[in-house]
Amino acid sequence: MRENLVIDRDLEEKTQKLKNKFHTCFKWVHLLFTLDFRSGFKRLVEEYGQVVTEKINECLRLRHNIENRNSSLDFKKEIFRNIVNQINLQGRSADVTDKIMEEIEEKQPFRDGKIGWFPEYFLDEEASGIKFLDKFADRKKEKIIEISNQLRFKSVADWIINLHNLRQRGQTVMGPKSDDDFLKEHGYFDRVPIDVHSQRFLFRIGILHYYSEKYQPNPSKFFSTNYNEKYESFQKALVSFCRDFLSGIEIGGFDLAKNPGIVDLIIWRHCAESEEYHCKNICGDQPKCHRCCLKDSCLQYLLEVKRHFK
Ligand code: SF4
Repeated sequence: MRENLVIDRDLEEKTQKLKNKFHTCFKWVHLLFTLDFRSGFKRLVEEYGQVVTEKINECLRLRHNIENRNSSLDFKKEIFRNIVNQINLQGRSADVTDKIMEEIEEKQPFRDGKIGWFPEYFLDEEASGIKFLDKFADRKKEKIIEISNQLRFKSVADWIINLHNLRQRGQTVMGPKSDDDFLKEHGYFDRVPIDVHSQRFLFRIGILHYYSEKYQPNPSKFFSTNYNEKYESFQKALVSFCRDFLSGIEIGGFDLAKNPGIVDLIIWRHCAESEEYHCKNICGDQPKCHRCCLKDSCLQYLLEVKRHFK
């Protein structure tokens, strides 16, 4: 009798553990079905497809010129300016960037048309209208001189193609984010930059959690002070997400699975503030979840709703 009682208690405990496991499992399966990332991104594509297609065409014009080895002065000017801006604008907020761009346009750099002014022209803050105001100014100026020396011996097209090859091998020239952003902006959509908008977005929606175990079993490293380590973990998560969830979803004939740079164009428009680029600032500093087409596919929203119905 005594023995039977012990066995029953054992059985009871085991049954309870099994029930708990089943319950946890059920909760996760439920969560995975609820977090339907793919449908969410289809809605994002519907919302931003048109403006992003216009941007893609702009980037493709540059890539076409690069691949056709355009060596005209106008094209060189455009590329030089993009390089300098990319370096100078690193780490600045969008409104400062817009102001600097306006100043550059007003002062019409490159007016003498000689290669000799580069980089001297840009480093003459008075003449170029470019302000190196931040604490990294010296480092940025050094980088511009270094790149201008590389460009004396290379065509801009060769320089960009080489940059792309280097990035594919994990090396950097201007810095990982600047390199990736520059390449994306010039039609290399296999490269995707990671900025503060994408970091917030990837965390909130749950993509970071989904890939955490694979790329960063210690989640604190996602927020590490080692910039390169943090950058790479976020980037790997976003690239894998595109490959695993977005296959067959297209914009302008580009499959999003293989073109994370285009996904970045969409995310940026959803999260950033710039009205000029048709950004809606929905998942910005302060998320406006009630207006967000992704809310049914977002971990943060789901947790928020669950908290209210507890
Ligand atoms: S539901 Fe809220 S947190 Fe989630 S993506 Fe949209 S705005 Fe961001």
